[in-house]
Amino acid sequence: MPQHFHILILGGGASGRWLGESIVKTAPKWMGSVACIERDDRKGNDRTWCFWGHEDDVLNALTQRQWTANNHNGKTYTLAPYTYRIIRSSYFYKHTLSNIPIFYEEVEECTQIGSVVHVKTKTATYTADYVMTSIPEKSKTPSPTFCQSFFGWYLEFDSPYFNDEEIRMMDFSIPQQSYTQFVYVLPLSKTKALVEVTRFARKPITEQQACSLRDEYLKGAHFKIIDVESGAIPMTAELDAKKKHHPKHQRIVPIGTVAGATKPSTGYTFIRAKEHAEKIVQALVNNSPIPTTYRKWRFRFYDRLLLDVLKRFPGRGKDIFSRLFERVPHALVLKFLDEQTNFIEEWRIFKVLPKGLFLKAAIRDLL
Ligand SMILES: Cc1cc2nc3c(=O)[nH]c(=O)nc-3n(C[C@H](O)[C@H](O)[C@H](O)COP(=O)(O)OP(=O)(O)OC[C@H]3O[C@@H](n4cnc5c(N)ncnc54)[C@H](O)[C@@H]3O)c2cc1C
Repeated sequence: MPQHFHILILGGGASGRWLGESIVKTAPKWMGSVACIERDDRKGNDRTWCFWGHEDDVLNALTQRQWTANNHNGKTYTLAPYTYRIIRSSYFYKHTLSNIPIFYEEVEECTQIGSVVHVKTKTATYTADYVMTSIPEKSKTPSPTFCQSFFGWYLEFDSPYFNDEEIRMMDFSIPQQSYTQFVYVLPLSKTKALVEVTRFARKPITEQQACSLRDEYLKGAHFKIIDVESGAIPMTAELDAKKKHHPKHQRIVPIGTVAGATKPSTGYTFIRAKEHAEKIVQALVNNSPIPTTYRKWRFRFYDRLLLDVLKRFPGRGKDIFSRLFERVPHALVLKFLDEQTNFIEEWRIFKVLPKGLFLKAAIRDLL
């Protein structure tokens, strides 16, 4: 007889762990009947997560460093009431899912038969009432036509280099080379920083291109590289959920990036995956329909417009983001990216943007 669980979490990355944490907090009675299957038993510092917000005990405990100001073009702007936060993945992996068993195996197949889900790995078969999965299904993964790609280096400088009280979210002072590309700086101390070169484009930036832009940006600085990370996050609206809930009979529930938790225009996923996980567990506890990552129509629309403009006119990205960061309070930009703004606040944002460009994108989208 296969081992049976109430909930099996497939994938022990960001969303799988948030789901596990939610169960521990909201439905401790299920402990003992929950497990996670993850193929990588050596998950370490494979990424750094940045996010903002949110006074929350769990996040406070997991935050490694936070800032309240953003530097744009040499000027300091407050982020209050938000704080911008960072957590390295190894720290997150170490401090989450400690109460839930993890089987380090590769999932080969996951099928629902009646109301039971069967999960096959190389060596075993498990069954579950519900499976929450962050494992990409090849046939359902959209081939990204546009992405945010980046190389980030943990650097140690010989002498104080950045002001460690403020971050640089989007520094466009590097050559644009017909792309939208910028440097992102998170100073971890007076002499240490995470410096990331990011490009929004159809093809990912190469390491050589990123290194050359980094060296140009840090001209004259003496530093050594402590660690490197890189990635390419698809920027696509294809995974946007069209319905608010999954059908009642559905027992295999996607979470994280594969569920559409990544915001198409920014790549931010970490907090969205956490919020989705909390809603799923709450729905299971209440025996109500399981929510998707559904977002309000207008925020999906705004994301599509920005993606359309950036794809067609990559060289205009610098102007668009600079207008935002020079003319709109930065806390309002973050609130907008959190999809928490009202129409009046959104109008404050739209009126600083190049109207013709976005109007044409809106017409194209609606036709
Ligand atoms: C380098 C990098 C930096 C990022 N930085 C940020 C950031 O600053 N802020 C932000 O909000 N978002 C960020 N993102 C985007 C997003 O938060 C992450 O990609 C996040 O990890 C997505 O969570 P997930 O659970 O969907 O996927 P993952 O975290 O990738 O988890 C999926 C898990 O499934 C496992 N798996 C896959 N296939 C199998 C299989 N067949 N069997 C068993 N296990 C399997 C994988 O090993 C993995 O552990 C970043 C992404 C990258 C790549």
